[in-house]
Amino acid sequence: MPLQISERVRAIGAQAQSELAQQFERIDAIAEQNTQKVLAAFQAHKVSEAHFQGSTGYGYDDLGRDALGAIYADIFGTEDALVRTTFVNGTHAIASALYGVLRPGDVLLAAIGAPYDTLQTVIGLTGNSSGSLKDFGVEYRQVDLTQEDTPDVPALCQAVQDQRVKAVLIQRSRGYATRASLSVETIRALCDSIRAVRPEVTVLVDNCYGEFVETMEPSQVGADLIMGSLIKNPGGGLAPMGGYVAGRKDLVEATAMRMTVPGIGRECGASLGTNRALYQGLFLAPHTVAQATKTAVFAARVMELLGYSTSPNSQEIRRDIIQMIHLQNPEAVEKFCKGIQAGAPVDSYVTPVPWDMPGYDCPVIMAAGAFIQGASIELSADAPMRPPYTVYMQGGLTYESGKLGILLAAQELLGE
Ligand SMILES: *Cc1c(COP(=O)(O)O)cnc(C)c1O
Repeated sequence: MPLQISERVRAIGAQAQSELAQQFERIDAIAEQNTQKVLAAFQAHKVSEAHFQGSTGYGYDDLGRDALGAIYADIFGTEDALVRTTFVNGTHAIASALYGVLRPGDVLLAAIGAPYDTLQTVIGLTGNSSGSLKDFGVEYRQVDLTQEDTPDVPALCQAVQDQRVKAVLIQRSRGYATRASLSVETIRALCDSIRAVRPEVTVLVDNCYGEFVETMEPSQVGADLIMGSLIKNPGGGLAPMGGYVAGRKDLVEATAMRMTVPGIGRECGASLGTNRALYQGLFLAPHTVAQATKTAVFAARVMELLGYSTSPNSQEIRRDIIQMIHLQNPEAVEKFCKGIQAGAPVDSYVTPVPWDMPGYDCPVIMAAGAFIQGASIELSADAPMRPPYTVYMQGGLTYESGKLGILLAAQELLGE
């Protein structure tokens, strides 16, 4: 039985797609450039079947695992990188970097408002703070956004003057905030401003959702270390778990000592047969990210045609793979998520319902029918059930399947 999509909804989809040719061309051109970078790095490191063999036990001498770090370093233009499935997720990679860099008495400064929710617990802002950075005597400060939701550069420069500020954290993607995601050029300007005041400050960038959306990464414009998740962009939809850090060698080393333990660092951490998926996923990542980005742009246009407001809108240049859609009421949020779920290859028969997720102050609804649990490079949508009833959607392993998911969501909203 074919998917039940009405003629009217298919027509809206056709109109949206026909209006997006220029956007799609731009996205494809970026994918082509990034594919060249990735391919060149694979070739320079003479990737062969031997790299796909993993290790067990302690995981010493894992050729493929270690070469993958060097390949990420080439692609991201850094001295060094650590790419591991022993990072349980992106939060773990970012937290390991923070624990690696910061010492008691240091100040961590968030440059553009509050960081991503899970990092707030790591920092000790929310939740039971046992074991948090705060618990270890690391002080946290934050530079809020301007009234226009843009980075407050003068306030940042002022805050960095304090000699106790050891590290500045910049988050590239908006996460669940309403500000715009940062372009790599904006990150360059922030790094330049910080360096002009205190050249020795360490600049860390939470790179989640941003990898391969542009042709440069923050590590190529002044960031000392970038961190991210392998079940988002750089895993290409194939990595079964993991995270990475890439940047200055001493900082990658320091992170490795927190990923495992001091003295062992990166020497241990068996890859257990995951190497092939990590390599193949990285190879696909520029293309997969383009598919997800096109899905986001398509979603924006379809929802605009239905009369909803979107951010970014369908004509804006993309800085990450996240699409915000302002649905205005709880029923619409539930319908949209129901449609997205119905378009999934896995768990398509379930209906997502809002629930009280730990760490959130209101019920949250999530739609995801993914091959890899929680992988948000796969088509997914979620929303806190509170005004303004905004849904955040991202992913799409293929544009074709992403498009179908969006059309099913549109159909639910139209009640057809
Ligand atoms: C997803 C995300 C994280 C955390 O990644 P997990 O893999 O979910 O732990 C951190 N920061 C940002 C901006 C993210 O989008």
